[in-house]
Amino acid sequence: MPDHPAEPWRIKMIEPIRTTTREHREKALREAGWNPCLLRSEDVYIDLFTDSGTSAMSDRQWSALMRGDEAYAGARSFYLFEQAVRTHYGYEHVIPVHQGRGGENILSRCLIRPGSHVPGNMYFPSTRAHQELNGATFHDVIIDEAHDAADEHPFKGDVDLAKLRAVIAEHGAAIPYVSLAATVNMAGGQPISVANLTAACDLAHAHGIPVFLDTARAVENAWFVKQREPGWANHSIADILLALCAPTDGAVMSAKKDCLANIGGWIALRDPGLAEQARGLVLLYEGLHTYGGMAGRDMEAIAQGIGESVDEHHIRARIAQVEYLGHRLDTAGVPIVHPVGGHCVCVDATAVLDHLPRTELPGQTLAAAVYLEGGIRGVERGTVSAGRDPATGENRYPPLEFLRLAIPRRVYTQSHIDHVADTLVRVHKNRHDITHGLTFTHEPPHLRFFQARFAPAGGADIYDG
Ligand SMILES: *Cc1c(COP(=O)(O)O)cnc(C)c1O
Repeated sequence: MPDHPAEPWRIKMIEPIRTTTREHREKALREAGWNPCLLRSEDVYIDLFTDSGTSAMSDRQWSALMRGDEAYAGARSFYLFEQAVRTHYGYEHVIPVHQGRGGENILSRCLIRPGSHVPGNMYFPSTRAHQELNGATFHDVIIDEAHDAADEHPFKGDVDLAKLRAVIAEHGAAIPYVSLAATVNMAGGQPISVANLTAACDLAHAHGIPVFLDTARAVENAWFVKQREPGWANHSIADILLALCAPTDGAVMSAKKDCLANIGGWIALRDPGLAEQARGLVLLYEGLHTYGGMAGRDMEAIAQGIGESVDEHHIRARIAQVEYLGHRLDTAGVPIVHPVGGHCVCVDATAVLDHLPRTELPGQTLAAAVYLEGGIRGVERGTVSAGRDPATGENRYPPLEFLRLAIPRRVYTQSHIDHVADTLVRVHKNRHDITHGLTFTHEPPHLRFFQARFAPAGGADIYDG
């Protein structure tokens, strides 16, 4: 049993949640086109759809909301927010956006042209979608171990420097920037080491190519660096966070993750010229450059949340709760991605439902089964999320296809997590009762996993005997 510290907080306010009957869930899921994303939240008991914007704010954050300065221009809350980002992430120019994808849109529009090539350590759906929308071709330069669910590599978010070198050799001048993430969400919340991130930046910089970091979960990444990377055990999380950002040229942030806020984000840059250009686009797409689509109170909550996010007690308990779920599933023989990542446990759907063909979308099918069994909502990360290749129009079948169970921060108790584990163990034990997978009945062109609808392939139900 790994170290599992008790929560470093107590509950001051509660939000009722309800269990439902299997019959209720069957009806709700059918109405949602077998896509848990389309369920109403009140039909879900434990919502592990995402850790994005779903964290519980602290009493200090709630009181900070009341101090929000809602001035259109130059709000005090903006300067507080700007200072918190500068202090903890170390970038000079801080440009607020309404959430991470607002920043991705603006960075992509500033730097990408048709024919551009963008290398990255795997990809995040909205990040790659913005890059492709602006005409770039994405190149995955993550290490091979990241694509192997069983490999225990401690830094599965690392860049394969040989792959990066090869993309630079082939596309050199057509690479506007390298797009790195800490941690790598699509690999299951896997960290990148400070040494590898620094080496990747050195390589890119030697060719005059800037590097932008997706810092949505860089604090969680810092925790893994402290645990696993030689030389960092005695450094604070705050120091490691600065060390991760230091070699990069800027960052795009979704404050809905590490920052313990419900909405918000920023672009952070070192180059004043690029910052000027980005501010110009923020005016068009987000809001004035001192609020960027956020209310003053949102910036207050983020400023307070940044400070709480680097607290060692917080981050240790946060990651330990995720590890606890992973440990329970491991012990029961449910196949999961190893090592367990920072924000989620990923169940290997192709291993659980190895009797279904990939065309019957085992990840999506497992998501449906887990909802029916225990009222738990997870999300598919596999074929449905990967979308179609823009060049060929063919479905992409990534090597990994899993059901991601993302854990909101400071929201669920250990008994909730036990309910999740018990449900998964039952679904796994009875997996051969699942006789049909799912196929699309409606397929949207962009980020299709959010709004797609499905039907059981060749049957009325996925449990069709
Ligand atoms: C959530 C997320 C984004 C996008 O941010 P939003 O706030 O959802 O728009 C980008 N990258 C990563 C790694 C994320 O987890």
